[in-house]
Amino acid sequence: MIEDKSFDEKIEILKTWIKSSNNIIFLGGAGVSTESGIPDFRGDNGLYKQKRDMPVETILSHDFLFSHPKEFYEFFRQFNKNSEVKPNITHYRLAELEKEDKVKAIITQNIDNLHQLAGSKNVYQLHGNAHRYYCVKCHKKYSYEDIMSQDGVPYCSCGGFIRPDVVMYGESLSNFLLREAIYLISSCDMLIVGGTSLTVYPAASLVDFYQGDKLVLINAQATPYDYRANLLIKDSLGKVFSKI
Ligand code: NAD
Repeated sequence: MIEDKSFDEKIEILKTWIKSSNNIIFLGGAGVSTESGIPDFRGDNGLYKQKRDMPVETILSHDFLFSHPKEFYEFFRQFNKNSEVKPNITHYRLAELEKEDKVKAIITQNIDNLHQLAGSKNVYQLHGNAHRYYCVKCHKKYSYEDIMSQDGVPYCSCGGFIRPDVVMYGESLSNFLLREAIYLISSCDMLIVGGTSLTVYPAASLVDFYQGDKLVLINAQATPYDYRANLLIKDSLGKVFSKI
């Protein structure tokens, strides 16, 4: 593992590896969007550090969504409300690397739609997208604007409950997406993992499917997968991506 080098030396290695790779996959999490102003969960300023009556995992769970829809939507609207939120340098640089035919796909745990807003096309959203909603009864689709422009619990014209197209705690990930992610990671020549604590499963275990020798891990804090990294950069994504 390359660890005992300066930040600049690590950036040079990263640049050389990107240059020599044509099938790069980026696996990311909430830390990718903190520099856009969206808090993560476990980072230094994450939601887990805030005092609240109930753990975030409880509010964002399947059971709570259906048993306390009013309270759920109060939290969820607040969390997803900021219309000023824009992609940051990491989102934009990844989209450019896709255009340059370097990055083949982004696999993200984020639900904020910022990779797509930055121009990335091949985005696998393991945990869904908070900009999409649907009726649990008739499956009619609703937009972010439909839900944000009203208060209270949203209901469909058929009378059904409208929920976010997001994987809640206690719900399973799409098998199709997981299979695709495994295929992409097991066949890529370089894997860049960034802005994730690698503690949410099964997303974290996707790292185990990488078979190459260019596993780059960029995260502000230590993760349980640091020992697997070929290049470990414990720093901010914005600082790293503004250099490449
Ligand atoms: P996490 O909160 O568990 O971990 C985020 C990690 O990113 C932390 O280790 C933190 O130190 C690091 N980090 C924060 N800002 C960084 C930066 N600028 N540069 C480098 N590292 C940075 O997030 P997770 O691992 O993605 O798991 C949390 C779950 O919560 C996911 O399932 C995700 O869907 C969800 N979530 C999504 C959003 C979003 O869509 N933006 C926000 C919060 C949580």
